[in-house]
Amino acid sequence: MLSAMGGEFLTTGEIVADFECGFSEFVGMKHTVGLNSCTAALHLALLACGVGPGDEVITTPMTFVATSLAIIHCGAVPVWVDVEPETGNMDADKIEAAITIRTKAILPVHLYGQMCDMRKIRKIANSHALFVIEDAAHSLISERDGIRVGQLGDAVCFSFYATKSITCGEGGALCTNKAGIVEFARRNRSHGLTSDASTRCQGKYVHWDMPEFGWKYNMDNLKASMLIPQLDKAERQRKIRKDICEQYRARLGGNKYISYPMVREEDSENKSDYHLFTIWVDKRDDLLRYLQEREVGVAVNYRSINKLLAFANDSLYKACGLYESEKIGDKTLSLPTHCKLSTYQVDYVCDSIDAFFRLV
Ligand SMILES: *Cc1c(COP(=O)(O)O)cnc(C)c1O
Repeated sequence: MLSAMGGEFLTTGEIVADFECGFSEFVGMKHTVGLNSCTAALHLALLACGVGPGDEVITTPMTFVATSLAIIHCGAVPVWVDVEPETGNMDADKIEAAITIRTKAILPVHLYGQMCDMRKIRKIANSHALFVIEDAAHSLISERDGIRVGQLGDAVCFSFYATKSITCGEGGALCTNKAGIVEFARRNRSHGLTSDASTRCQGKYVHWDMPEFGWKYNMDNLKASMLIPQLDKAERQRKIRKDICEQYRARLGGNKYISYPMVREEDSENKSDYHLFTIWVDKRDDLLRYLQEREVGVAVNYRSINKLLAFANDSLYKACGLYESEKIGDKTLSLPTHCKLSTYQVDYVCDSIDAFFRLV
């Protein structure tokens, strides 16, 4: 951070390029484009795949709004398929029935750090000539059946927002193995200009041009310098979160009012990021209020997004048969899982939950 501030250049320059190299290696992808958010990454990835007005993109309703908003930013329409009742992840078996002549891409989200069935999703995409863009805002290191995040997608998008496992406050990245997608994203993160800020300022002025209209989505050197040192710590922090999640399960396991999303056993081919620890309870809003009164930092990830006003009030967005997503959205509660949580604090959260259920 200090060296970035001492540098000649605060915006997109060499430190961003260093981060992009390091991150590509970290996630096992050929190319990374540093951006100012995951939403920007999703938007550019969809545009690079040719998604535009009149198109449909199949995605999940059990996610943060940004997943569907990126589709809307392209002028396309998100088509939601229901989720698996066990995990909350997009149900790959529901995708085929949602495909129409307008479908251009599938946009799965690896919810809470556990991956969707990417082998199945890729197979469906191939048989209908669709693109696959992964929203990996919850999953930096995840793996399923030997497939890593990003490996079967045309592009994969990461978030470095304040609550994510590595962060610079606001930031994101698009990773891909496809040259066409990386070139598109690189040009269009800086207004679509023929040269980026650092080359424009090196040496003498030369005319640049704008062959197409782009966006202002570039990552700067300050952000990159905050992210680089975090890559080495990410796996250690994942293990700490795994440990916290296991403590919760051990402590709350006997409570008959609580159920949980299924988490696949970790082995050499399966791994979750443990981005969030969520419980499912019937009196969710009462428990939420009770825990907040006791100063426990709880949140809801997420209410099914078709219920949000802007979607619910517009008949363009069809919310048919999203039973499992709506059910999870009414029951889900995220408990604190940050790496600095002590055993004492986990106990306090669990004692508070037990106390709540003794009251009801
Ligand atoms: C955080 C998040 C995003 C958006 O990330 P930004 O970097 O804030 O744009 C997208 N999808 C999911 C699932 C998220 O949790």
